Amino acid sequence: MRHYPFELPPLPYAYGALEPYIDTLTMELHHDRHLKTYVDNLNAALKGFPEYQSWSLERLITQAGWLPDALRTPVKNNAGGVYNHIFFFNGMSPPAGRGDPDAPRGDKSAMPAGTLLTALERDFSGVEGFIKAFSAAAAGVFGSGYAWLAVMPEGKLTILKTANQDTPLTRNLCPLVCIDVWEHAYYLKHYNKRPDYIQDWLHIVDWDRAAGYFSDAQAL
Ligand code: MN
Repeated sequence: MRHYPFELPPLPYAYGALEPYIDTLTMELHHDRHLKTYVDNLNAALKGFPEYQSWSLERLITQAGWLPDALRTPVKNNAGGVYNHIFFFNGMSPPAGRGDPDAPRGDKSAMPAGTLLTALERDFSGVEGFIKAFSAAAAGVFGSGYAWLAVMPEGKLTILKTANQDTPLTRNLCPLVCIDVWEHAYYLKHYNKRPDYIQDWLHIVDWDRAAGYFSDAQAL
């Protein structure tokens, strides 16, 4: 995944691993078709531009302004689509075993902990306040896009919404958590009830991973 030709990375868990919160068919279609299409379209866009084929995904996103006109919009949409989907898929983990120390994934916490918990308490007056604000942001994305928890350069946490396949990287923010609220992410199971999907997704956020990103951001 360093640079062109970009490859479709496998999901870090089985398609059915997020049941009952996200159904197997949705995960199959979302990963094998939606993400794959972004990967294929990004490669197709870069095919005729060997001078940009050594650029990383992050560089293509953050330095898209340097690209030729013909490349800028396809790269913005498709590099963003690849980055956002991988971040979203990696940011979830199976609900099984949480809270059970003997289970294979018993080390996964269902709620934020450690310094990330402290920061959520500082910036959102607690986890409940964060969940309320984040859920409202995700429900309030007009059309297709994402809601994110991210770290600002000065270390404060923020919630933001992005449209289409825009990313927080172009706003100089370090993302910790994201939810894809395009209809393809939930329509088969939750139909038009995006708030129900958001509530289900909260059960499968990988807070350990988010805490790791937070530690990395603080070390910068
Ligand atoms: Mn999606």
